Amino acid sequence: MNYKIALIGGDGIGPDIVKQAVKVLNAVGEKFGHSFSYVDVLMGGCATDAVGVSYPEGTAEACKACDAVLLGAVGGPKWGSDKPAQQRPETALLAIRKDLGLYANLRPAVLRPALKDACPLKRETAERGIDLMMVRELTGGVYFGKRDKYQTPDKGLEATDLMAYSEMEIERIGRRAFELARLRRGKVSSVDKANVLETSRLWRSVMHRLAEEYSDVAYEDVLVDNCAMQIVKDPGQFDVIVTENMFGDILSDEASMVTGSIGLLPSASMGDSAPALYEPIHGSAPDIAGQDKANPIATILSAAMMLRYSFHLSAEADAVERAVDQVLDAGWRTPDIAEPGVTPVGTEKMGDLICAAL
Ligand code: NAD
Repeated sequence: MNYKIALIGGDGIGPDIVKQAVKVLNAVGEKFGHSFSYVDVLMGGCATDAVGVSYPEGTAEACKACDAVLLGAVGGPKWGSDKPAQQRPETALLAIRKDLGLYANLRPAVLRPALKDACPLKRETAERGIDLMMVRELTGGVYFGKRDKYQTPDKGLEATDLMAYSEMEIERIGRRAFELARLRRGKVSSVDKANVLETSRLWRSVMHRLAEEYSDVAYEDVLVDNCAMQIVKDPGQFDVIVTENMFGDILSDEASMVTGSIGLLPSASMGDSAPALYEPIHGSAPDIAGQDKANPIATILSAAMMLRYSFHLSAEADAVERAVDQVLDAGWRTPDIAEPGVTPVGTEKMGDLICAAL
């Protein structure tokens, strides 16, 4: 079977880390007898430099012709907020999510056993382990609602952002969470603010309907403020957390911090049909670009998510994750995760070590 993958290297460290993930995918192909082919897609600041816009015409079509998309990162100070929208890399990110219909963002937060010391929480909390999946609604809610700013007669300027959710939007993200929980430890925690917000009360009623349908999955409601506390107090209690766009934005960053380094965490964004998009949670790290210092593990683990969720190759995904753990267990570190006294390895070498471990 041949799997066709669109590669968006992007800017900064993006091309280097994507290159390592491709090496690992090819090693998986060799070991398990699959073939992967790649199509390079131009997007981000590099596209602005090459053709004048960050999201060239045909970008979505090129991706849709593939089975999955692997993105490094886009952006950098060269294409800052003083530039027109069509030249800014962030515009391309929003456009591709919209064009591919990517409404579900999956972010696992896993504390890798070899890096327990990087966890900023109490040692006994780290010892209990962290392995949660944050499922964030990505195309609705307050980030996409109507905005307004107007003059009031007596209070100066006033601004509003509308948070809206439909049953359809809630149900489709809810189903994602329950289906994922079935593949994991069978528990869904739905996060809302139903004691205050009408959108949250609708969210909760839809989730309760789904919880009855998926009666084999354990279910709980968690208020967002409590969830923020629980993630630092006892993150090991969570399996799948599902929540709306803004709550998910904040909670997923919080969850990633408790696992240590930004360079280790992958993500997936999915819609109802292929292709899904896989990318590390970090940005283009312009401060270390081109210096062979970037940690490629988040991108390699994003490729593992691609194997599992887009190609249904679980054994292959497990093998990649095991190879990463094996290399970390053996003490190899890139500079971002190197403990004092450890001589770090570069991006290329880390990629080679993971291939060798496979
Ligand atoms: P960043 O994630 O790029 O970097 C934050 C810090 O983490 C930096 O010190 C960086 O060196 C370090 N870092 C990040 N990834 C690393 C890795 N793999 N290995 C080692 N160290 C790593 O965030 P930022 O500095 O706020 O943003 C830089 C640019 O990236 C901006 O233009 C931003 O808009 C863009 N960005 C893009 C995406 C995306 O493409 N999805 C996401 C976030 C930020």
